[in-house]
Amino acid sequence: MRLVFATHNQGKIKEMRAILAGLALEILGMDDVGIFEDVVEDGKTFEENALKKVKFVLEKCKDIGCPKGHPMSIQPWIVADDSGLCIRALGGDPGVYSARWAGEEASGEEIVRFTLEKLKDVPEGKREAHFECVLALVSPAGETWFFHGRVHGAIALKPRGAPHPKLPYDAIFIPNGYETTFAEMPLDDKNRLSHRGMAFRKLREFFEEMK
Ligand code: IMP
Repeated sequence: MRLVFATHNQGKIKEMRAILAGLALEILGMDDVGIFEDVVEDGKTFEENALKKVKFVLEKCKDIGCPKGHPMSIQPWIVADDSGLCIRALGGDPGVYSARWAGEEASGEEIVRFTLEKLKDVPEGKREAHFECVLALVSPAGETWFFHGRVHGAIALKPRGAPHPKLPYDAIFIPNGYETTFAEMPLDDKNRLSHRGMAFRKLREFFEEMK
């Protein structure tokens, strides 16, 4: 079976391949199947955005005139993720706006500074937050499933560690039960705890049960 992951992010594709390793699934990204456009993520919920990405790829698959042997000549499964950080003292913000609430062009450092400024009057002990990830999966027959992952923690007073540029909040998120931020942890440890790791493992269980 083929699974197209509706992302251009090679890091996420690598993570999914690692978690789904050993299953009879060929995992491809959008670039691998010749879809180079971006999807506008303007949904109000993580579910809406994930579904939008999946449907975008589904429509594109129909448009691509696939020669025999092309990855899309067999109708694939399609999966998409959407994720973000929800801060309790801010009523759940930034949520679905995590990537751009400090401005479309803001750097990772600016996003962190902007977020800490919003929390400047919120003391330690009242800085609860969670990361959330939603995966939407569509089968070749058109059925849809959702898988959720969530990790609870708190927002640090200052950034610590060197986060991946596209994952700026790692420098200020301390998961419950730990002293370190996600950015200070080895990647394997973060993936074991993270919202995305959790949702990806639920996807793995789904495919295992299908066997
Ligand atoms: P998306 O799911 O790739 O659209 O992610 C949306 C945004 O949420 C990212 O650009 C990050 O700002 C934030 N985000 C999601 N997951 C993480 C994470 O594991 N660490 C840090 N930031 C994250």
